[in-house]
Amino acid sequence: MVSRGRADLHMHTTESDGWPSPYELVDYARATRLNVIAVTDHDTIEGALRAADYVAGSSSRLDVVVGEEVSSRDGHIVALFIERRIRPGMSAAATVHAIHDQGGLAVAVHPFWRTQRRTRSGRVHGVGWLAAELPFDAIEVENATPGFYVFNQLARRLNMGLGAAEVGGSDAHILDAVGRAFTEFPGKTPKALRTAIESGATVAGRSRYRAVGLMRYAAWGLNHERYVAVV
Ligand SMILES: [Zn+2]
Ligand SMILES: [Zn+2]
Repeated sequence: MVSRGRADLHMHTTESDGWPSPYELVDYARATRLNVIAVTDHDTIEGALRAADYVAGSSSRLDVVVGEEVSSRDGHIVALFIERRIRPGMSAAATVHAIHDQGGLAVAVHPFWRTQRRTRSGRVHGVGWLAAELPFDAIEVENATPGFYVFNQLARRLNMGLGAAEVGGSDAHILDAVGRAFTEFPGKTPKALRTAIESGATVAGRSRYRAVGLMRYAAWGLNHERYVAVV
């Protein structure tokens, strides 16, 4: 029986709108049960590259997957296992295609977070039902953003019909959120994680916030409510 590893596949750093630096994120994650983290800043891979370099220079049991949360015209899409930045502002279909083109995996993150109307700047958070129509490799069914319970339920229900790999990612913008949603998979390495996503062997889970974490998240939210990716 292969032992199971744990990954957090959605997190932000100071390279976009997160509070921790890539180094702080790695140092914090090292002290958790996580084996793999994917750093997925909005429309940049700089934070992920820094985090990956940082762990490469140490004898750490933590591995970093280079990712990006791409602002597609139709909503956010997380790219995992990429080497080059994916350009924001394309349709969801073109974005998924661009991710696959460079050998990456495409995740429909918080697909039903659509509370905000589409604005003139094109701001829309989740890809909605496009999650069912496009060849996504995984659906994020657990996102640890406070208040996302219903969005997560809807994503789970969608994926019951789809049968895509289910993943969990904290969407951490503060350190307390790291690992609060996670993806379990057979093995411990990024390679094993990738195999598990491709074969639908992942299981998404949650762990509760400490009260102080929720308070810090509220403080972060007040500062970033109006974050709009620069396209
Ligand atoms: Zn997002
Ligand atoms: Zn995010």
